[in-house]
Amino acid sequence: MNDAQNTVETAAAGRAPLPFVQRTPLIAGNWKMNLDHLQAIALVQKLSWSLKDARHDYTDVEVAVFPPFTDLRSVQTLLTADKLPIVLGAQDLSPEAAGAFTGDISAAMLAKLGVQYALVGHSERRQGHAEGDELVGAKAAAAHGAGIVPMICVGETAADLEEHGPAAIPLAQMLAAVAQLPEGAEFVVAYEPVWAIGSGQAASAEQAEAVAASLREALRDVVGDDRAAATRILYGGSVSSQNIAGFMSQPNVDGALVGGASLKSDEFSRIIQFRKHVTGA
Ligand code: PEP
Repeated sequence: MNDAQNTVETAAAGRAPLPFVQRTPLIAGNWKMNLDHLQAIALVQKLSWSLKDARHDYTDVEVAVFPPFTDLRSVQTLLTADKLPIVLGAQDLSPEAAGAFTGDISAAMLAKLGVQYALVGHSERRQGHAEGDELVGAKAAAAHGAGIVPMICVGETAADLEEHGPAAIPLAQMLAAVAQLPEGAEFVVAYEPVWAIGSGQAASAEQAEAVAASLREALRDVVGDDRAAATRILYGGSVSSQNIAGFMSQPNVDGALVGGASLKSDEFSRIIQFRKHVTGA
């Protein structure tokens, strides 16, 4: 549970506090286009040994990995064989159900592999593949339709930050995607300032909290107080074992989407064990 979450949930003055909901922190590793299936197996094995040594409680802090498509079957087999409670995620999916879509992968195919989360709208897809809000929302809906929880990635570029401030673009991106989900659908939001991704320059914990609080506040109006209180909002962008404790001490930050640092089993393990770190370190 996020310790501070009990008290500081009411970002907007004059509104009733949100109901208290215990949100399980989620630490998710986005491997991007790294690691073949053999390297993937080796990494998950090392990670699981490290977490076993540390007596990690997966019900206290959930752990997910998002390997490339070609690794999913191998990682799934390992997780099943060794009964590892690490959750499998996909980095992308098609908005289409099936058919003549060369190169694409459907939500149903992913669900069959035991995939439980799918990233939608990662900035590298928005920028490198010209994915807009409409498509991101359609992908979120496709994931939900197959029983996969979409992890909606939102975030402002450095230029957006200068022009609109930190929250406007993430808010618009989140609301556009959520609008395409049916009522009651579960989703996770990953706030990832684009300028912080892979740059080594993470946002401050306070910056992340301010945007996460705005996102949660906006969710109240579209999904209601109960779901707004229950929805996990992650921070992503140059997360490391040095800064994770600061993010996790914020009341509206419920986990992290970790890129580069998730490729090193020891470092990712340390991030997952954020509760052991000195608060604010
Ligand atoms: C990401 O791409 O989702 C990410 C957060 O990357 P990094 O941790 O390397 O900044």
